Parts: sequence; structure tokens; C-alpha cells
Amino acid sequence: MIQFIDLKAQRERLEADILRRIQGVLDHCQFIMGPEVAELEQRLAEYCGADHVITCASGTDALLLVLMAHGVGPGDAVLTTPFTFIATAEVISLLGATPVYVDVDPATYTLDPDALRRTLESFHQDARWKDLTPRGVIPVDLYGLPADYRRLNKIAAEHGLFMLEDGAQSFGGSVDGHMVGDITHAATTSFFPAKPLGCYGDGGAVMTNDGEFADVIRSLRVHGKGSHKYDNMRIGLNARLDTMQAAVLLGKMVVFAEEIELRNRIAARYDALLDGLDGVIRPHVPEGHRSAWAQYTIRLGERDRVQTALKAAGVPSVVYYPTPMHLQTAFADLGYRKGDLPESESAAAEVLSLPMYPYLPESDQEAVVRALRDVL
Ligand SMILES: *Cc1c(COP(=O)(O)O)cnc(C)c1O
Repeated sequence: MIQFIDLKAQRERLEADILRRIQGVLDHCQFIMGPEVAELEQRLAEYCGADHVITCASGTDALLLVLMAHGVGPGDAVLTTPFTFIATAEVISLLGATPVYVDVDPATYTLDPDALRRTLESFHQDARWKDLTPRGVIPVDLYGLPADYRRLNKIAAEHGLFMLEDGAQSFGGSVDGHMVGDITHAATTSFFPAKPLGCYGDGGAVMTNDGEFADVIRSLRVHGKGSHKYDNMRIGLNARLDTMQAAVLLGKMVVFAEEIELRNRIAARYDALLDGLDGVIRPHVPEGHRSAWAQYTIRLGERDRVQTALKAAGVPSVVYYPTPMHLQTAFADLGYRKGDLPESESAAAEVLSLPMYPYLPESDQEAVVRALRDVL
């Protein structure tokens, strides 16, 4: 039986060490903000090169904390991609601000810098947005590939907008040698179990090189606290990472760099196996970019027929994501229609993610591609 993601393979490898670390937490009983949390933040910062890593309760809370720190609220617009998981856009609406969707580059599925520039240049000509103030941009590193930050950072700076990199899928990736966490003003990630760095529950982090901003995030994470627990300077959240999850992640960090290497090797192997297979578009990684390969995602016509036939052949695959945000019921009041963001819509109809995890056996990979060949 081929697994889409087999979390057991990793657990067996790391079990003894992780159990020892969890036992350590049970022994000292500091379940909230215990020493493992600070130790993990230090380890993550060393790994990704960010000056500050602030862990939190989920990837969604990480996004929310950054938007709160920027004071995003009603009357504000935040530009983002519709081709993502709901969390990216949900946090904008949750704060009373308005998501404005910008189409993706069809080769990388990440926010298209040209489309961003066009949207910003004609922003107030659109009746829907004439009373809104553009405040920031949230590109998403879909499938683990960092977006085109060389250009996106520049456009955001020219328009006085903040940048927030949704790196929920890309922790471990890089652009020009800068790791996710050290590419834009602030990045967030998720430790949901199926992400490249997953814990045994929910978890997330904010990464930034801006010290003052990091202090605000630390305060917001604990009810907007000031110098002590019962000094409340601002309205915040309870968004801390559990000590237990920090212990799990410390165990996983021991092998994480190696796992990113393994994911890159598996992606290269898929590339080679799929080479010359008519009708299949392989993932594109631009020069200087390194993906964390949360997913290996191909693109093909008749996607649904292929997926059904693969399933019958015992090969699991997943569609991330079948409906772009601008066509979701939850965002119906934004006034978008089918056809408004054509690249995102056709990507949503044609993408298919194949089994991917660091310990995916070569024989499974060969079987996946053999089945795909047969189906096509
Ligand atoms: C998983 C994910 C999130 C949310 O992370 P959680 O930890 O599940 O809250 C946000 N954005 C993207 C792109 C994701 O894939």
C-alpha cells in the first residue's frame, strides 16, 4: 500500500529521542512556556537565520499575530493569492479588513509580481475598493516553493506596504541562500503534522529580523501583556505553543536539514522519472530558489479522470486546492466572479500532488509513475 504521507516512518526513526524529551516535560511540569519553548525558538532561529522566532499555537495564529501587530482592521485591504489554504485569507477578514486577490504565476503557482503591480496601480479605479487603503501583501509559498521575493519585496516597498510571507509549507526553503524566515519583513510557518516540520498537534511560528516588531508579537501571543502577566498593554490572544509540542519539534529539528535534502532528492527523482511523459507538466523551480517540497505537484488535463484511475490502481494523490478563495462561499460578499482570476482557476482544475515525504521508498515512487504512465 503506497502512502501519500507516512508519518510513522519518521516516528520510528526518532521515537526514543522524542519520548525522552516528552518525559522531560512531564518531569518538570512547566506545560506552558517551559524551557523547551525558548530552546526551540533559539534552534529555529539558528537554522533559518532570522534574528527572532516567536513560536505560537498554529500557522493560522502566526498570520493573525502579524496582521494584529501591523494594526490591520476595517478599511484596510490586504493583497494575497486566491490559490491557497483558507487560513491565509481568513485572518484578513477576521480582523475586519478586506482580502484583495491577485492572480498567480502559472509556472510557480505563487503570487505574480506583474499582476500585483497592475492591481496596485489601478487600485482605486475599482469601485469595490475605492474606500480601502492597501496595507500589506501576503504571498504564499505554495507546495514549499518560496514566491518571487526579489520582485515582490521591491513592489511592496515602493507602495509602502508590509510584506508577510505565508511560509506554512516552505520552512526549510530559500531564495538566493536566504532561508524562509530571513527573506521578507516577517514570515510565518505552521507545524501542523503534515507540514515539512510538523509536531504532534497544532503549532506555528513567526520569524522576523525586526526586534521591535518581535516584541509586539511576543506581547500579542500572551493577551497583549506588558512587563508582567497582569500588565496588559494591548488586546491580544492566547496563542502560545505548548511545551510538549516544543519538545517534539526539538527532537525533529535534529534531522530536519537532512529531511529537506531527502525531499529535494525525491523531487529530482520524480522529475527524472516523469521526463518525456506527454501531457504532464512538472513543477518549476526558478533559478536561485530552493523548495522545501511540502508537495510534489504536477499539472495535467483530465485531472479528475487521472486521479480516479490512480486511486483504482492503489496510488493516492491529493488536489491542493480545488476551489480558489475568490470562489469560496465564505467570501461571496467580496463580489468576485468565475473568470476574475483565470490562472488560479485553471491551476485549481489541473494540479495534482503525488506522494511525498522524506522516507518515500524508491520502489513506491517508481510504482506511482508507472501507474501514471498506464493511466495516460
Ligand atoms: C497549513 C497552512 C496554514 C495554516 O496552518 P495551521 O497550522 O493549520 O493553522 C496557512 N497557510 C497555508 C498556506 C497552509 O498550508
